[in-house]
Amino acid sequence: MAKRKKQTKQTTETKQTTQKKRKQAKKQAASPGFTPVVEKNDIIDLTIDDLNHEGMGVGKYQGYTLFVKHALPGESIKAKVLKTKKRFGYAKLLERYESSTARVTPLCPIFDQCGGCQLQHLQYEEQLRQKQRQVQSQLQRMAHLDLDKVSVHPTLGMEDPWRYRNKAQVPIGEHEGGLIGGFYRQGTHDIIDMNECLIQHEQNDSLVQQVKDTAEKLGITAYNENTHQGLLRHVVTKYGFKTDELMVVLITNGDQLPHQDELINALKAKLPQLKSIVQNVNTTRTNVIFGDVTRVLWGETYIYDYIGDIKFAISARSFYQVNPQQTEVLYAKALEYADLQGNETVIDAYCGIGTISLFLAQQAKRVLGVEVVPEAISDAKRNARLNHLENTDFAVGEAEKVIPWWQAQGVHADVIVVDPPRKGCDEALLQTITDMKPQKVVYVSCNPATLARDLKVLEEGGFETKEVQPVDMFPHTSHVECVSQIVLKDD
Ligand code: SAH
Repeated sequence: MAKRKKQTKQTTETKQTTQKKRKQAKKQAASPGFTPVVEKNDIIDLTIDDLNHEGMGVGKYQGYTLFVKHALPGESIKAKVLKTKKRFGYAKLLERYESSTARVTPLCPIFDQCGGCQLQHLQYEEQLRQKQRQVQSQLQRMAHLDLDKVSVHPTLGMEDPWRYRNKAQVPIGEHEGGLIGGFYRQGTHDIIDMNECLIQHEQNDSLVQQVKDTAEKLGITAYNENTHQGLLRHVVTKYGFKTDELMVVLITNGDQLPHQDELINALKAKLPQLKSIVQNVNTTRTNVIFGDVTRVLWGETYIYDYIGDIKFAISARSFYQVNPQQTEVLYAKALEYADLQGNETVIDAYCGIGTISLFLAQQAKRVLGVEVVPEAISDAKRNARLNHLENTDFAVGEAEKVIPWWQAQGVHADVIVVDPPRKGCDEALLQTITDMKPQKVVYVSCNPATLARDLKVLEEGGFETKEVQPVDMFPHTSHVECVSQIVLKDD
């Protein structure tokens, strides 16, 4: 804050050097011992030797870490510094002197602008190896696990890693009088029109296209974020891979949907798989997609899908895994690691709509699921009934509070499964697990960094990590998911 006052004293030096020095002084004051080696707009040569968790190339310039979008390990490049921070900075790839042998041309023509995928320029096999390596490096660096004792297996990928998503969420806008819909240009709220997304199921693409065409013909307006005028905000579509059922949700800035019947009839005629047309009203000035009011305009409240043999009811608002094929792979692994014989009590913390719980319930004596979102628990109960899995109980609440309460009621868990959000398990929950001493913990994680942190706590609490299996749930993106088997050590 005080930095501006000094400005007037330095009269003999040129304006440029003064500014440069001031910047340096500011950085040094903020972080003693820090000497900036690069500045914004510097052009530098860089060798890339790693990928970060966002899929960016990582290079060191005189020891200073720079992240470069779309640069790959093994590449030597010319880059322009975009932004510097205390411990790392960002640079833009200008030219490749030497390219990685694993570099491929992205299949998607809008890969550069979209930002939905981060790794299409890297061979799929190499993406899988990178994800395995990322898990290994986190476990080694943060949890100090000995990789000779803990096997981090090769990532289980998809045979055909395209068109895997079962849900699309598309913002709608207007361009030169016509309706457009696609994605926000990276880092902005400018809508770029898109007809297909290569990681999206074709049924979702054609449904979105039909909505855009029909709504435009009927004169339905698109919502404008700046003026808060116009009607159609988002189109959300869901598709059951195993049932071939489609749902569309039209999110509108207002209650009335003009030409509703014509719209319904046109969509039904074009897409016989369509089972449900839903309207959700969101009149707030917010980036949140859904509003509070949801009504079925035509057809069913639910579409259905299966993961393995378990049937799930999917409503407009319910959470459901977006890659159903790989979810099956992930949960089969979780089940294998739980190694159930039929007489166990299992706790599924962070259970969502009960996806893992119901998988486990097929082989356990009893499964108790806990989840903080009440609607998800209603779905979990409905799904349990749908599959006649009566050996399940679901509770709404925070896992770190509900599980100690169960323990106090005399519940003993043989296996505890956790599938927390990116921030990992609450410390109190890890403490409860070490107190409860289940024979096994199965940890499903979408963030190797918090997984490593939590494994360290469990290791210190008397558990031993046996195996870690990365599963590629989101090919071409930088997301890494894995399931780990952790066992109670013999005293
Ligand atoms: N296992 C589920 C969902 C995992 S996502 C599935 O596979 O479908 C993580 C879930 O944890 C979310 O549903 C989120 O609502 C829930 N959650 C977040 N914090 C929680 C907490 N403290 N206690 C219980 N559940 C929590």
